[in-house]
Amino acid sequence: MSVELESVEDFRARARAFIRDNLKAIDPASQFGSLRNDRTEEEEMAFVARDREIQRMLFDNRLAGICFPIEYGGQGLTPAHQQAFNEEIAGHEFPQRIQAPTLAPCTAVLLEFGTEEQKQRHIPAILKGEEIWMQLLSEPSSGSDVAAALTSAVRDGDDWILNGSKIWTTGAWWSDWGLCLARTNWDVPKHRGLTVFMLPLHQDGVAVHRIEMLNGSKEFCQEFLTDVRVPDSDRIGDVDGGWTVGTRWMFHERMLFSSPLVTVPKGELHGGAGAGGLIASARELGKADDPAAHELIGEARMLELVKQNLHPRIAQSMASARLNDQGAAIGRLFNGVSGSRIFTLEYDLAGPVGAAWGDGDGAARPAGEDFLMRQAACIGGGTLEMARNVISERVLGMPREKSVDRDLPFRDVPRGAPTQR
Ligand SMILES: Cc1cc2nc3c(=O)[nH]c(=O)nc-3n(C[C@H](O)[C@H](O)[C@H](O)COP(=O)(O)OP(=O)(O)OC[C@H]3O[C@@H](n4cnc5c(N)ncnc54)[C@H](O)[C@@H]3O)c2cc1C
Repeated sequence: MSVELESVEDFRARARAFIRDNLKAIDPASQFGSLRNDRTEEEEMAFVARDREIQRMLFDNRLAGICFPIEYGGQGLTPAHQQAFNEEIAGHEFPQRIQAPTLAPCTAVLLEFGTEEQKQRHIPAILKGEEIWMQLLSEPSSGSDVAAALTSAVRDGDDWILNGSKIWTTGAWWSDWGLCLARTNWDVPKHRGLTVFMLPLHQDGVAVHRIEMLNGSKEFCQEFLTDVRVPDSDRIGDVDGGWTVGTRWMFHERMLFSSPLVTVPKGELHGGAGAGGLIASARELGKADDPAAHELIGEARMLELVKQNLHPRIAQSMASARLNDQGAAIGRLFNGVSGSRIFTLEYDLAGPVGAAWGDGDGAARPAGEDFLMRQAACIGGGTLEMARNVISERVLGMPREKSVDRDLPFRDVPRGAPTQR
């Protein structure tokens, strides 16, 4: 029996009523940036708790997982419903820390490659806000070259034993589960000896260290895995088939901000608010009538409009096979360029006080801190150089970059750092 889909307009009215009744309105300027240093550990944990609470309320009110299948606790609705939600939620608090990477790419990978048991075990819990996930991909010796992972997984009966180190995991200290790429075969070329696992982050054998960044933020983490036992039932995809999973993992990461699986409030650019945030800052800084400020705000609005149109266009082009999956790198490139630019606009708006703020300088402080961290938008989720490589080689069909290790057994690839095997 087919169930009639709720109309977008009925859904929008229902979402609007829930948002007005339950969620606080927020200043768009407060949404600028991530990796800030203006919260204590307790404050950050309170934000995490509030995100979980909101996610649970969304779940109880049939608003969580709008495009996730009903059998895993989602609403089974369409991207148009998610779009309506994105419009209604703008200007309100929402469970920001549960969007990326929990819902995408992590849950997107689970949906695509997880067994039925894995999906039933985790996706409803994720949609209820009970599980926050992180991606354990980058390593101290391999970030761009993800396939060169040294973290090893060795089979031991029904389990695997993982050893190694992952790094740059945003918020791992307050997260629950990690999706982890590990090497299971050293005798084949690097892309053919990898496997993906999931594991709880808070367990013996997983040491999570926080890394202090340039602006004082301690949101980035490095994890050390020492003899971590992972049951084979927590393997995702085939043994040594990790690159197949990994390729889609990176696809979902690049498509993040046009993914119907995540909430991106309308008018927000990757890593920060759009023109609305700059307008709020201009008012606070007493520059609402300054023509130079108007130019900066205009540029932010232009970036916002390009983003709003570019991402659906990429998704449509891929859906109609005019663009292959690697075209997701075009969106990734734009997000990086615009994300970094918006922080520069914010900084220019603040003027000299953005470079040397004091206690009473309000909007100037985040402007200065975000400017220090602006390159993060060009690195996280894969660097812009790598995105450009993908676009030139995989989308435009230009010659592939020379690779000396592509066909060598990974064991024989020369490397400087000591390895754990
Ligand atoms: C905000 C943020 C969040 C992040 N979150 C996570 C996370 O949750 N989980 C996770 O696993 N990682 C995360 N990362 C790490 C991120 O994925 C890596 O930093 C990134 O992939 C680059 O790797 P690397 O730092 O090792 O730099 P490297 O790979 O050492 O690169 C150094 C420089 O060389 C360039 N380069 C390297 N190879 C090439 C090439 N073939 N052609 C041209 N240029 C090249 C790079 O573009 C870069 O400029 C995050 C990073 C940031 C900034």
